[in-house]
Amino acid sequence: MRIALFGPPGAGKGTQASILAETYGLKTISTGNLIREAMREGSELGEEARSYVTAGKLVPGELVRKLADSAVANAGFNDFILDGYPRTIEQAQWLDAFLRAYKAELHGVVFLAVPDEVIIERLSKRRVHRLTGESYHLDFLPPPADVSPEDIIQRADDQPEAIASRLRGYRRETKPLENHFRVTGLLREVDGNASVDVVHNRIIRFLKSSPVTAARKAG
Ligand code: ADP
Ligand code: ADP
Repeated sequence: MRIALFGPPGAGKGTQASILAETYGLKTISTGNLIREAMREGSELGEEARSYVTAGKLVPGELVRKLADSAVANAGFNDFILDGYPRTIEQAQWLDAFLRAYKAELHGVVFLAVPDEVIIERLSKRRVHRLTGESYHLDFLPPPADVSPEDIIQRADDQPEAIASRLRGYRRETKPLENHFRVTGLLREVDGNASVDVVHNRIIRFLKSSPVTAARKAG
């Protein structure tokens, strides 16, 4: 099964991707996590990306394309869930061409729809594990007791100004993708403004319907 999660920052893509990955044995490919990993390692790519990420701006396409393509190839072109990629029409066209070349087209795209005020609340209370990138929320999903508090941090781009910039960027560059996926017939909108479990069940309902299940059965 090859699926992508799409939606505004803070919609719950990472949270749902990690549950789905476990449920279906998929590999999660999060360009955000890959970029932060590159930044932590201090690689050339990471250093190039840093100023964009911190300001809440999209990292220029070619850098992200390389990261995403090699992660998809490492997954063996199957059984993966894309989280946060593609995020522009250009990225979607690259991905389409790349996957088509390997006969590995996406089976479905889940659009997690969440209103702005909920996004702002979620992002300002988001905390992440500095090594695993796992997301928590101060009220809804506090870090478990066995996780050391020093490992729990707030992302620099979860500060109010960066959140506002990411929402503007989303509307300008990412939202147009909704129509791109709609015309390909891949998109299924899921109301993401509910508890983590309820949203998960809504996504599962979509995945159990064709064409994703058919693709799964066919291997
Ligand atoms: P969120 O979904 O909360 O915005 P991510 O962890 O997915 O967070 O992304 C964090 C940052 O990483 C983005 O604001 C952007 O700077 C960069 N990034 C992640 N994915 C992409 C992408 N597909 N294209 C460009 N930049 C990206
Ligand atoms: P994204 O990857 O789309 O940026 P995350 O999965 O990191 O979003 O979620 C953003 C924040 O909202 C995190 O703090 C997460 O714990 C929290 N969160 C995710 N899903 C829900 C939900 N259904 N209800 C409440 N909080 C949620």
